[in-house]
Amino acid sequence: MCFYCRMRIFLIIIIISLITLTNSFSQNSKAKIAILIDDVGARTSTLTTFFQFNEKITFAVLPFLAKSKECNKIIQNSDYKSILHMPMESKNNKTLNERTKGMIKTGMSKQQIDLLLDSAIVNIGEKVDGFNNHIGSKFTSNAQSMFYLLSLAKQKELFFIDSNTYNRIGEDGVISNPEMAFSYKYARGLGIKTSFNSLFIDNLNTLENVEKVLLSAIDLAKEKGELIIIGHYRKNTANALNNVKNKMLAAGIEFVFVDELLE
Ligand SMILES: [Zn+2]
Repeated sequence: MCFYCRMRIFLIIIIISLITLTNSFSQNSKAKIAILIDDVGARTSTLTTFFQFNEKITFAVLPFLAKSKECNKIIQNSDYKSILHMPMESKNNKTLNERTKGMIKTGMSKQQIDLLLDSAIVNIGEKVDGFNNHIGSKFTSNAQSMFYLLSLAKQKELFFIDSNTYNRIGEDGVISNPEMAFSYKYARGLGIKTSFNSLFIDNLNTLENVEKVLLSAIDLAKEKGELIIIGHYRKNTANALNNVKNKMLAAGIEFVFVDELLE
């Protein structure tokens, strides 16, 4: 056999080995999903259904509700994790803006925001490492307000997850260009640990729909490698998670806490 023929065979063997190696790597590397459950705090009972999940879930506790502190204590004494769900001004929902206790709004001074953030942290009790926004389309898209808030987050060593209520959300819960979240870029610029929501799993509150959206998250997670998805503190959402968990695990999904996906 001539030298070039041997070289050709040698190169083919190297290429085939590389392809096999790459394939086995992509099969072994799991796509990560962090489930964040918003609006916890009105009652403790729904936690029991969520706790049947037995895989990592992060709960976002809304302050000033009847059971905010109690829920947070139960979560922090369990194998699950919690963050603060900070109320922020919405663009369109005037009623919620007026009714929501402890909400930070555009036009507030840094000192006012500081006081409200501290009182929310005190209200939910226990240790707080980070927070995401409850509603907040107006606040999170305002440069001055977010500069104040994120500077405070830096001082208090808190991470921030943008719930992405500002970006356009499709009926299927998918957020177009989630990484374009204004505050996400801002937080990175300020050197604050941050990430963003990519998918709302329960925009339509039926068991069937939440299960469908959760299964659609499998492909999205595989495409992006890792994903934060947001659901709400409802029985349907908890049951849907429990129902599709095994399918998601079998598809190669690894469930992680939100603080494992910070940038
Ligand atoms: Zn919320």
